[in-house]
Amino acid sequence: MDEYKIKSIEEGLTKIEFPEFDKISSDAPVFYNPNMELNRDLSILAIQVFQKNEQREINICDLFGGSGIRGIRYKNEIDGVGTVCINDISETANFYERHNIKLNDLNDIEVFQHDASMFLRMKRGEFDVIDIDPFGTPSPFLDSAGYCARRNSLLCVTATDTSALCGTYKEPCIRKYNAKPYKSEYCHETGIRILAGFVALTLAKYGKYIEVKMSHSTEHYMRLYLYVKKGPKKTDERLKNIGYISHCKHCLHRQTSKGLASPIEDVCPVCGEKLIHAGPLWLGEIQNSEFIQNMIEETENKKINKEKEALKLLNSCLNEANAPATFYDVHKICKSMKISAPKLDLIFDEIEKNGHIAIKTHYNPLGIKSDASIKYIRHILFSLCESE
Ligand code: SAH
Repeated sequence: MDEYKIKSIEEGLTKIEFPEFDKISSDAPVFYNPNMELNRDLSILAIQVFQKNEQREINICDLFGGSGIRGIRYKNEIDGVGTVCINDISETANFYERHNIKLNDLNDIEVFQHDASMFLRMKRGEFDVIDIDPFGTPSPFLDSAGYCARRNSLLCVTATDTSALCGTYKEPCIRKYNAKPYKSEYCHETGIRILAGFVALTLAKYGKYIEVKMSHSTEHYMRLYLYVKKGPKKTDERLKNIGYISHCKHCLHRQTSKGLASPIEDVCPVCGEKLIHAGPLWLGEIQNSEFIQNMIEETENKKINKEKEALKLLNSCLNEANAPATFYDVHKICKSMKISAPKLDLIFDEIEKNGHIAIKTHYNPLGIKSDASIKYIRHILFSLCESE
């Protein structure tokens, strides 16, 4: 491994070395993405909250190790961690994972070289936390995760194939997630719900169900933190959260309907145009206020370089925990009305003044999550525009 020029970085309390590369891609000798630091910071908070809730020592699986940064940070920066297993199919990755474990002077970290699904199956039931952070889609590995995750465990899932989940490309989403996406103004939320729905349906085969504790869409990836629980009855009950989001391209009305195979309306009740459906997807909770509040409190105990971004995101997700599915995009609505957009604060005030919810969303700075109808939102935008 002497032929490489070595780069050294620090995240949190952890130091990592790996071969330098020009471009972040899966062709790099060992994969390290500095843009994922926030993802790793948030993971440390989420896993620490999980560990404290469980009040026991936890074993962690970092399924796609790369440089080892994730698994090594987990052992180094989370309290109450027993063994961390770092797996990667690449021998070069394994070399640097071992090197970086030594560099941080850590024990109880084991390194493995297997295909991810094989590895999970070999170690079935051994992990309290399974972290699936691949380059691309997690879809092919979720079945093994479903089979091997133990009851009362934490499953962390990253997807970087957002173009599929958001519906820029429809067919890959159908292929990988068995769901039809739709590229609306709130497509990132739809994408997260498709991913969560796919995990829920995959785990259901094994009599397991999910509780989504926190989720976010940031830059080019989506991330879910899920509790995995077990029991066929509860699994059946929770699957009632699978459903569809129907969208009217014409007037921007949207509605949800629960049920995997229940009939869904095809005509927009507002304007009579055809509705477009996305799903099956998860219509249950995707932000849990108690869990997120605990993550926020945990920032006090951790050294996190991206603390400002982490807190901004967590506070936004905390607010969203009480909001309905989907959100309105003020610019998109104003454009369709051929008016210029009023100030965002005024719109929020006006919606709330009339007894409706108006909540900001991390998905889009111009987004409003609200229980008000599109008709009502249009009315407010129009009257604010008139009075300006
Ligand atoms: N989680 C890492 C990044 C992982 S990048 C981080 O936080 O930095 C993806 C890694 O998965 C690469 O190192 C690649 O070698 C490995 N990989 C690709 N396919 C795999 C498979 N089928 N099983 C196990 N590892 C695989």
